[in-house]
Amino acid sequence: MEYISTRGGAGVSAGTAILKGIADDGGLYVPSSFPVLTKELMKEMIEMEYYERAAEILSMYLTDYTKEEILEYAEKAYSRFDGDPAPVIKIEDIYLLELFHGPTSAFKDIALTILPYLMHAARVKSGEKGKTLILVATSGDTGKAALEGFKDVEGTEIVVLYPAKGVSELQKLQMQVSEGENVHVIGISGNFDEAQTLVKNIFNSKEANEKFKKLGYSLSSANSINWGRLVPQIVYYISAYLDMLGCDEIKWGEKINVVVPTGNFGNILAAYYAMKMGLPIKKLIVASNSNNVLTDFFNDGKYDANRTFHKTISPSMDILVSSNLERLLFEFAGRDPKIVKKWMEELKTKGEYTIDKAELAKKLPEFVGYMSSEEDTKDGILAFYDMTDYVLDPHTAVAVNACYDYQYDTNDKTKTLVVSTASPYKFSKDVFEIITGKKEPNAINAMKRLYDYVLIDVPSNLLELDMMEILHDIEVDTQDAEKTIFSVLKK
Ligand SMILES: *Cc1c(COP(=O)(O)O)cnc(C)c1O
Repeated sequence: MEYISTRGGAGVSAGTAILKGIADDGGLYVPSSFPVLTKELMKEMIEMEYYERAAEILSMYLTDYTKEEILEYAEKAYSRFDGDPAPVIKIEDIYLLELFHGPTSAFKDIALTILPYLMHAARVKSGEKGKTLILVATSGDTGKAALEGFKDVEGTEIVVLYPAKGVSELQKLQMQVSEGENVHVIGISGNFDEAQTLVKNIFNSKEANEKFKKLGYSLSSANSINWGRLVPQIVYYISAYLDMLGCDEIKWGEKINVVVPTGNFGNILAAYYAMKMGLPIKKLIVASNSNNVLTDFFNDGKYDANRTFHKTISPSMDILVSSNLERLLFEFAGRDPKIVKKWMEELKTKGEYTIDKAELAKKLPEFVGYMSSEEDTKDGILAFYDMTDYVLDPHTAVAVNACYDYQYDTNDKTKTLVVSTASPYKFSKDVFEIITGKKEPNAINAMKRLYDYVLIDVPSNLLELDMMEILHDIEVDTQDAEKTIFSVLKK
């Protein structure tokens, strides 16, 4: 299978797409076609463990790796999870797909535990001799998951840029205590969009690339625009459907709805790709917090990033430029890179573009957009806890609200899978206050007091934070970040 750029560049192998992260023309790599999920394969997969299911799906896309290689990587990656990496839990009338049982307690672990193996193998296959520099912009969860995944990986150095004031305290602490000879963490004064733009500009700058080359590095990205981040996410939608089938919750071929709390549009795009492969999905519900660019886009076809940026209690979705939407636009435009280029140029120069609303409804009828305000998200966490004793993290609560709002508006009774993206303990201060009505200024104490109140196990990686030393406390102005990257690398 070949990978082509959404902006028209020549095709490359999966390994090259994963190593490069972004195409030379600034576009994103997409598979030249979508493999077909047959009923026979689905039947075979029902009995399989998660990592075996992953190997089946990944090997359809990553055709320059052998099935044995992929099986080995998947087994190693998913053994780092606490039990099943992607269990489906039925609560009331919704099916929650819990994706936070990995080493850093957010769904980013599903891709970032396996990505280092895929990258390493691609380097070996390509005969690449130099070192790889992984440059990451994070809205909170990608950073730690990438630091864990790449720490002490041979031939690799990793630099994470995060908005110093735009992540939860525990997310920040998780990054600041990261161990490993090859890891660097830099807080910047700007928000995630600025961090992401900075990284994209470095990737596109000939000068910066030359400078990295002189230091012996070639650049790569572990952001969700990397194909190696997206493809492992397709697996859990298929796996969830198989689990629902296996428990007789649905019948063969029965369509389900999927609700995804969305920021950079990677997670929900993976659900769309699963649907393109043949997974029976009726509606894809895009759930946003008060940074509701995508809600407006799906409602009226106008993508408008010129608006106030809100800092919310679901910081990993505080994003106004959802990079992966470019891949959906590519499908919408009938895979015509000229059209995509024009929209992306408008986004860059004017911060907005508009597509035909009627055509959007016709070509992508599955998508609907919903948003949850801060107040509604808080009310949702409390109401859900009161009703079920289950504690939602704020991102997942945005999705649960979107689910109920959609059902209320449409009376659609289709069984619904809601993606649960993080442990509530990562957002301990907010969740503690919402559930108990009390304030606790210290994030670690809030985590412990939340446990005492709800008696749901705290993931061990979060408990350990208390005892770890802060190793990375650099914070710089956004405009100085590039310089800082070079100076930490030279040390
Ligand atoms: C990253 C993240 C999201 C958003 O996912 P995208 O793929 O960027 O849309 C939602 N919730 C949590 C907890 C996250 O870490």
